[in-house]
Amino acid sequence: MELVINGLSKTYANGVKALNDVSLRVPKGMYGLLGQNGAGKSTLMRTIATLQDADSGSIQLGELDVLREKEAVRQRLGYLPQDFGVYPRINAVDMLDHLALLKGLVKTSERRAMVDAMLQRVNLYEHRKKALASYSGGMRQRFGIAQALIGNPQLLIVDEPTAGLDPGERNRFYNLLAEVGESVIVILSTHIVEDVLELCSQMAIIHQGRVLYEGEPEAAVASLSGKIWQRRVPKAALAEIEATHRVISSKMVAGQPLVHIYSESSPGEGFTEAAPGLEDVFFARIGGLC
Ligand code: ADP
Repeated sequence: MELVINGLSKTYANGVKALNDVSLRVPKGMYGLLGQNGAGKSTLMRTIATLQDADSGSIQLGELDVLREKEAVRQRLGYLPQDFGVYPRINAVDMLDHLALLKGLVKTSERRAMVDAMLQRVNLYEHRKKALASYSGGMRQRFGIAQALIGNPQLLIVDEPTAGLDPGERNRFYNLLAEVGESVIVILSTHIVEDVLELCSQMAIIHQGRVLYEGEPEAAVASLSGKIWQRRVPKAALAEIEATHRVISSKMVAGQPLVHIYSESSPGEGFTEAAPGLEDVFFARIGGLC
């Protein structure tokens, strides 16, 4: 099964064109949708999740027309929204049990077994009786995955799920998502390059509502081989370099800017060739440098 998006566009009432002729082909496995804040990721996620309408275009999930057969899509969909953050005093077991009942699991014993198995899977079983309000950020996100997985969805959408997690929590969350991604279509929207690098076999870069790249992260990185050059420069020289070179990024390393530039041949001037990374791909594409 595949999710196929074709020519999707959306302009909000205030005139912002959040999606501009977006076409993507999303196979089973982990798919990363990488873009800065405001790129249009949530608009796309919410549209796929049947929570808002597009102005034009189509979305097909297997045989289903997502924009029209919303109920059928919802039965096959798990969704962890970006703002999954309001937590009642209820504990994890009772909450999942309630959600499973809403999903139509009416037989109490089956439901309990499913909820327990789910809590084991996301490693929250020992915390199942604690109020959700007391959970850490990482625990909340793992609970978010558990609630999204109720009913065995074929499509799982997770919107900016690692923002705010510390490195240990992020790793646990990566492991959980990677495991889920073995059997279903998972779309992970993120502005964090590392999320895509660690998890996704396919990706798209979205910027100002447009798709700038779609394919394998490795292929995107390989396409920049021999074209990324770096140099540590004094802060005072930055403006001059920005004016004369195609600067991809400059970040502070030990108090001094390390500049990455795009150049098809050696720029000289003390620049050395750098192994390209996904971050170079991202900034080069959204900067229109290649
Ligand atoms: P992302 O998830 O990548 O941060 P969004 O889809 O939330 O991007 O937003 C894309 C653009 O659409 C942004 O410029 C944002 O301000 C705008 N936008 C999002 N939702 C609305 C809305 N309900 N009304 C008007 N503009 C919106």
